[in-house]
Amino acid sequence: MKKVKDILNSATVARVVATVAVILAVAAVVLVMARSNTHQFDISTDDSDAHTAVVVVAAGDTLSQLLIDQGFSNADVLKIAQVLKSDADITSLRADSDKIEFVRPSADAAVNKIVIIPSPWRRVEITCNDAGEWLCSSQDIEPDRRAVYKSGEIRDGDSFYLAGGRAGIPDGILAEVYDLLAFEMDFERDVRAGQHFSVLYEENYADGKKVENGRVLAVQFEALRGNVKMYRFRTADDKVGYYDENGNGAIKSLKRTPINNARVTSSFSNRRKHPVLGYTRAHKGVDFRASTGTPIPAAGAGRVVARGYNNGHGNYIKLRHNASYETLYAHMSKFAKGVVVGTTVKQGQTIGYVGSTGLSTGPHLHYEIIKDGKHVNPMTVKLPAISNLGAQDKERFLEYRRVLDAGIDLLSTHPNWFIQVQ
Ligand SMILES: [Zn+2]
Repeated sequence: MKKVKDILNSATVARVVATVAVILAVAAVVLVMARSNTHQFDISTDDSDAHTAVVVVAAGDTLSQLLIDQGFSNADVLKIAQVLKSDADITSLRADSDKIEFVRPSADAAVNKIVIIPSPWRRVEITCNDAGEWLCSSQDIEPDRRAVYKSGEIRDGDSFYLAGGRAGIPDGILAEVYDLLAFEMDFERDVRAGQHFSVLYEENYADGKKVENGRVLAVQFEALRGNVKMYRFRTADDKVGYYDENGNGAIKSLKRTPINNARVTSSFSNRRKHPVLGYTRAHKGVDFRASTGTPIPAAGAGRVVARGYNNGHGNYIKLRHNASYETLYAHMSKFAKGVVVGTTVKQGQTIGYVGSTGLSTGPHLHYEIIKDGKHVNPMTVKLPAISNLGAQDKERFLEYRRVLDAGIDLLSTHPNWFIQVQ
């Protein structure tokens, strides 16, 4: 990794870092530091007389065998295993990543403390008291979070995944960005050469070493209908969401019930007796009772991909909302004027009217949500929430966004820097 000093001389770096540090300190959110910074993870015990053996778990190791190797009796092994299971939910060890420390008060004494590091973010300690009982305590370790910035450009013939990979965005982060943007744009149709995108995401470090990628903090994409920006933000009452530049909920969702207050007369099921056909078949949608002629609004913004008639659905319309979601509306008495295949519709726009065409026992709307080609239950499928910020959160958000944007600006010209997230 290139050090900051290689890019700029140290005096300039000091000045730039200091300036940003002051801006960031005001909001007490983030602090920009050079990547050469390391953090020590101290696992040594306080007692200087103590003798500690550190064992890195290897393939085939069992906790019992490791304990027996340290001189424990079978009875103790059992007790320790029970305490670990009940108090720390540890039942097995992972080779090559778990570490166990055996601590003795003096060189020839028995082990009276065992420390297990089952993940970089957790430390479990069990100690033997004078009565010979083993007591367990566990401690969460906060990752050292470093936000890094990656940006790229769509080239001719590119998919977003291809361009994102070329920009050095890891697959898992790219998939998250894709999901975030999926309600804003259609990745098959709205991606054009020349569009720029960027993402700010965390890398989690322990002991100065990168362990995993963390959360996506900010996303930006130059979509056809304008620049889409999203920021991850935590409200005062601890709710986390993504918001646009102005603090509005950035993720537009689908409505589970397109017609407000309509009663469900038949719910989603994989098997039910069909009221007209008589035999059992899956009901891949939800039925809402409504009188003939009631306007049917689009459950979300999208594009009409099918409009027609078939024996089962009668008059139906299918909308495509993004790369993953489609919705279908059946048994319509008629279609709304001007709504044809290819029409772009807004959320709430009338696309047709309730009827009883096709296999239907009375006027109702049959509504389906299709996710990645599979029918899902509209009433229970997990949809991204739409939320807006209250006045106080909004003020905090705008300050946070200003600080983060300043950090992003800096990272965009210093690709080897990161933001220390606190
Ligand atoms: Zn139905």
